[in-house]
Amino acid sequence: MQQKPYLKEYPNAEGFFGKFGGSFVPDAVKKAMDEINVAYDLIAQNSDFITELRKIRKHFQGRPTPIYFAHNLTKKYGGAGIYLKREDLNHTGAHKLNHCMGEALLAKFMGKKKLIAETGAGQHGVAIATAAAYFGLECEIHMGEVDIAKEHPNVIRMKILGAKVIPVSFGAKTLKEAVDSAFEAYLQDLDNSIYAIGSVVGPHPFPKMVRDFQAIIGVESREQFLEMTGELPDIVTACVGGGSNAMGIFSGFIDDCVELVGIEPLGLGSKLGQHAASLSYGSEGVMHGFNSIILKDSNGEPAPVYSVASGLDYPSVGPEHAYLNAIKRTKVATISDKEAIDAFFELSKNEGIIPAIESSHAVAYALKIAPELKGKKILVNLSGRGDKDIDFIVEKYGYGE
Ligand SMILES: *Cc1c(COP(=O)(O)O)cnc(C)c1O
Repeated sequence: MQQKPYLKEYPNAEGFFGKFGGSFVPDAVKKAMDEINVAYDLIAQNSDFITELRKIRKHFQGRPTPIYFAHNLTKKYGGAGIYLKREDLNHTGAHKLNHCMGEALLAKFMGKKKLIAETGAGQHGVAIATAAAYFGLECEIHMGEVDIAKEHPNVIRMKILGAKVIPVSFGAKTLKEAVDSAFEAYLQDLDNSIYAIGSVVGPHPFPKMVRDFQAIIGVESREQFLEMTGELPDIVTACVGGGSNAMGIFSGFIDDCVELVGIEPLGLGSKLGQHAASLSYGSEGVMHGFNSIILKDSNGEPAPVYSVASGLDYPSVGPEHAYLNAIKRTKVATISDKEAIDAFFELSKNEGIIPAIESSHAVAYALKIAPELKGKKILVNLSGRGDKDIDFIVEKYGYGE
């Protein structure tokens, strides 16, 4: 795949973006990661693999997804033009399938039989289960019992798709324990399976691989935006949980003179425990096998985090974001629960698009800055659709009058 100069150079051979990234895992896992890395380097140059992935993007996922000019919101806010990259129209309703199909195709090329993954809200679980069904692979999804109770529709989807959902009943019974459990299962079955990580996080080569699979968003966006407007956008923005949808769209503009802004969830406020804005309030540390910026408690352990968007509440962030932020190539801003909910209803009522509550954070940022930026153009990565959120939102916030 043809890559921009920056993308070729980062990460280095050991998976470092500056001092961030790397691979801090037990030797057995390191060996498995090295095998994945070698296989990935091979297939990334292999025309069969590239052709197959292109076919999948077009005929199964429904790519390219369009860019849409949000004409009503642009008019209403009276400043910058607001454009949306419609990842919500990707099959399964979010960007996650972009890397899940890539990871599953890699598993197939490596002769693996099984995909193992953890899931929090169930979005990654559904995307992996979809990819497993497509490729005829076994699929095992580890999920905390608390999340299983909360995210019932996604549990049903995974089971319909043929995945085995493993309830995790220790600790807080949520995402962190699901990661520990999935990791344990993977260790027991390194030869047969692949641990399909759900964002640009984890040990090398996952942050690089997932970015490369998501880069399709950036490649399409750059081309479409030029075709549509004759120019590049002034600002590109995306929400950041682990950071995969943001890295996907940012990578298309990384060597251009375009401002890139990652949006972190401020939740209920700036006190530790009220938010999940890792880059904004965290410090350097290793978690889940990579060095990055982490929200820590007073003992230096990963702190409890919160956001109304369960896809964004992770106490660390992809190492590439930590690096790009440190060298000031990207900027970070925060958006609160309330601002995100308001944006959710603004986009729904003014444009007829119900966004995921995660994506609503990026929309909120665009609405916040647009009035002051007349003559400029803002491109928002609309990472997913909001169907999964509507019951919760209506129960808690009504219909947004
Ligand atoms: C999972 C998810 C996110 C957050 O993940 P990133 O890796 O930060 O992109 C954002 N939006 C949607 C719709 C999601 O499902």
